[in-house]
Amino acid sequence: APAVADALAETIERTLVLVKPDGVRRGLSGEILRRIEAKGYTLAAVQLLDATPELLAAHYAEHEGKPFYQPLVDFMLSGPTLAIVAEGQGVIPGFRSLAGTTDPTAAAPGTIRGDLGRDWGLKVQQNLVHGSDSPESAAREIALWFPGL
Ligand code: UDP
Repeated sequence: APAVADALAETIERTLVLVKPDGVRRGLSGEILRRIEAKGYTLAAVQLLDATPELLAAHYAEHEGKPFYQPLVDFMLSGPTLAIVAEGQGVIPGFRSLAGTTDPTAAAPGTIRGDLGRDWGLKVQQNLVHGSDSPESAAREIALWFPGL
C-alpha cells in the first residue's frame, strides 16, 4: 500500500520557524501557518511568546558584533513572536524556499517575504519570518525556543 510505504520512507525532520514581531503585529500569523500546512508540513509545536534578551543572544549568537545585531535584537523584543516547529521530509530547505531570500524587496513573488514583506526603511530587518538553515541549527534552535520538546 503506497500510504504505508510513504509513511515508512518519511524520516522525521524538523525546523524552527519564527513569525517575527512584525508578522504577528500585522496579523500574518495565520497566513504563514496556512502556507506551512498547505505545503504539506505538519505543525509539531506552536507557541506565542515574548522573547528575552538571553534567548535572542543565544539564537543570534552568530551575528553578535555585526552592525545590525543590536537593532535586530531590539526589534525582536518589540512584541510577541510566534515560534513554530514544523515537521516533514525536506522541511529545513523547504521552509527556506517558502520564506524567500532575506531581503523582502528582492524576495521572489510567491514566497512569504516576497508576497507579504517590504522595506520599511530598515532594509532587511523586518522580513516576517525566521527558518533554520541546517539540521544542526534546527536542533540548536528548537532546544532554545522549546526546551523539553
Ligand atoms: N538582518 C538585518 N540586517 C542585515 C542582515 C540580516 O537586520 O543586514 C536580520 C534579518 O532579520 C535576518 C536576520 O538578521 O532575517 C538573520 O540574518 P541571516 O543572514 O541569518 O538571514 P536569514 O537566514 O533570516 O534569511
